[in-house]
Amino acid sequence: MKLMPRVLLLLPTTTYRAADFLAAAERMNVDVVAASEKPNVMASKHPEVLLTLDFRDPEAAARTVREFHKAYPIDAVIPVDDDTAVVAATIGSALSLKHNSIESAQAARNKHTFVELLHRHGLAAPWYRLFATAEDPKQAARAVSYPCVLKPLFLSASRGVIRADDPLAFAAAWRRILKILEDPEVAARGGEAAKQLLVEEFIPGQEVALEGMLDKGELRVLAIFDKPDPLEGPFFEETIYVTPSRHAESHQRQIAGCVASAAAAIGLREGPIHAELRFNENGIWIIEMAARSIGGLCSRTLRFGTGLSLEELILRHALNLGIGHIQREQRAAGVMMIPIPGAGILQEIQGLEAARAVPRIEGVTVSVPLGKGLVPLPEGSSYLGFIFSRAETPAAAETALRAAHRQLHFVIQPEGCN
Ligand code: ADP
Repeated sequence: MKLMPRVLLLLPTTTYRAADFLAAAERMNVDVVAASEKPNVMASKHPEVLLTLDFRDPEAAARTVREFHKAYPIDAVIPVDDDTAVVAATIGSALSLKHNSIESAQAARNKHTFVELLHRHGLAAPWYRLFATAEDPKQAARAVSYPCVLKPLFLSASRGVIRADDPLAFAAAWRRILKILEDPEVAARGGEAAKQLLVEEFIPGQEVALEGMLDKGELRVLAIFDKPDPLEGPFFEETIYVTPSRHAESHQRQIAGCVASAAAAIGLREGPIHAELRFNENGIWIIEMAARSIGGLCSRTLRFGTGLSLEELILRHALNLGIGHIQREQRAAGVMMIPIPGAGILQEIQGLEAARAVPRIEGVTVSVPLGKGLVPLPEGSSYLGFIFSRAETPAAAETALRAAHRQLHFVIQPEGCN
């Protein structure tokens, strides 16, 4: 007899998110089926908890899960990143679990579809042009105005997102993005989308991120993060996130309204969303919305109610346990995604203990093993690690992150040197 609810977690092997979701499930006494794209050596011994799914083929993944569900009934499906959000929608639809429509998950996944839908619904959005990668970049450069931003349609973590201020920079950015899209792994992941390139108006201004939960189409704001480091380009490296936001309450309400409208425009109705917005004297602009929770280890900044994690909230919502009026704790919190300072082999990390000893620092996690090759933006898509702080005020949380980061020194040997 099945006593505990069973949740299917879609966990690509490269995700940082597995540990936090598994910990949440354990705290909640929820059975987990962990699905990833590569077979696990333990799968034959534990068929009820490990599943291999082809995340590049959502329909095939849904058929596999439907078979699995006959032997081991599933109560909820949870994606952890952009690719798996579409797979989760397809599985949810096949098994009649709580889910977003497949079209809405696809719209959040594809930057062109997303910006097109914003325009169609009359929401503030940058002008945009879609190009085929086979087109002539010099001609394309004459068809847009400046400054603009070139980007692949389906990558994340700002990978391949480049600002261009003139036609020369446009053509150089184009060629650089093409190289990324020609990588066999990227090309296979993107399919048709890897043969296209989106160009958008560059929206100046300050950037914030909103973490929210949709419940039957209603948006609950879980946190608004300020991004105090300027993001002017040409590359857009995420560094510091601090919550609560220091922007005016009225502003924050407008930000929430803008996210709710964008979610409605693309049709997202259930589960976590993560949105990036910019604002300036002309208003608020939504740059991106994903049908998933915040990436990396950043969710560790968030605690709710009596200490619940974001992942517990997501599980509660997916299992219809409700999240009621649970609020984020009163204290401020921050995270720094440690940028990769240059290409090469990571040889040594100095100052870790000193960084951890900085007041208000809760932890410093290095996510790259020594000896590993580092690729900075725009080609790369990972961070060296994460620094976490908690403090009485957002300013103090931010200061602590900067102080801890100053203690760290990464010894990187440029490749090609011995
Ligand atoms: P990703 O999904 O890879 O994070 P985004 O489209 O969200 O890609 O772009 C990453 C970052 O690049 C944004 O957070 C923002 O800082 C910057 N950016 C992207 N598009 C624009 C734009 N149209 N105007 C200004 N900045 C932009």
